[in-house]
Amino acid sequence: MAIDELKQQIPLLDYLQAHDWQQARPISFGRLLGLCPLHADHKPSFLVDPNKNLFYCYGCGRGGDVIRFAELYHQVRFPQAVALLHQWRGLPPLLHEAAGFYRMQLHRHSEAVAYLYQRGVRSPELIEHMRIGYAPGGCLRGWLTQFGYPLQTLRQAGLVTGSGYDTYTHRVVFPLEGNLYGRSLSAAAPPHRFLPGAKGGLYSWEQARQYPEIILVEGLFDYAALWQAGFHNVTCSMGTHLNVHQHRQLCDRMRTVYLAFDADTNGSGQQAEQSLACRLKEQGMNVRRVSLPDGHDPNSFFVEGGGDARQFQALLEAALP
Ligand SMILES: [Zn+2]
Repeated sequence: MAIDELKQQIPLLDYLQAHDWQQARPISFGRLLGLCPLHADHKPSFLVDPNKNLFYCYGCGRGGDVIRFAELYHQVRFPQAVALLHQWRGLPPLLHEAAGFYRMQLHRHSEAVAYLYQRGVRSPELIEHMRIGYAPGGCLRGWLTQFGYPLQTLRQAGLVTGSGYDTYTHRVVFPLEGNLYGRSLSAAAPPHRFLPGAKGGLYSWEQARQYPEIILVEGLFDYAALWQAGFHNVTCSMGTHLNVHQHRQLCDRMRTVYLAFDADTNGSGQQAEQSLACRLKEQGMNVRRVSLPDGHDPNSFFVEGGGDARQFQALLEAALP
């Protein structure tokens, strides 16, 4: 069960590309052919089927799924390969446990549900899809230590502070790839927090990447508003700066990218958008910049501006390169 989940979370192609595999050419049924990373290969004999998440090499005769690949590539046994893949991607078991705990808390705390409602997060499907939880503070540590996690481990993961308190308090929590993002309910605390470590790749990329046209937003509440309005071809970079991994994901094939960053009054969003647009165009991507009404982001467009899906669709159609 956990193994199947891991395999779903790690597309073989992503894993191969992260290990510098390059396809030589596409062949029929969306399959790809390239040099075999497992033996000294001189003509492309390594076949990858991204839909089935399987590989086969006509040269060395080896094949299988992403776990099998990790075993062969790193020359380790199955359990180590699974551990490596967990490390490489996906929530480590501890963060998975913490995210599950936060999800249980969400509906026990009306202030959290009210906050989500006010930010336009209203459909149960969306809350389920984004696996949104709530950190009330003061109880995660007890829950996790009861499961045998040593306090030191919780500190290392950043879930508990040096003085032993829950790091996230009164925060709505969104699980990311290998991290948890916490949005404060209170105006007194810093609004955005991540646990130590990378923010991960583009949000929910596995879902978005199948679309030839993608909407890129900078915040998770923007993502939420669009997803809820029926735009499932949306992804989020969590900030206006894309890390190398996110950039590579976005450019993994030719597609149209609609940039829908905040229309801040100081113009910083537009500036970031412009430089990103240039970089994407250099990669041969088809870029469109969505022009939101002044002072709006995609979330406020729907939540405060009273915009609907049809109006947003019109903005997409009017977007200029
Ligand atoms: Zn081979």
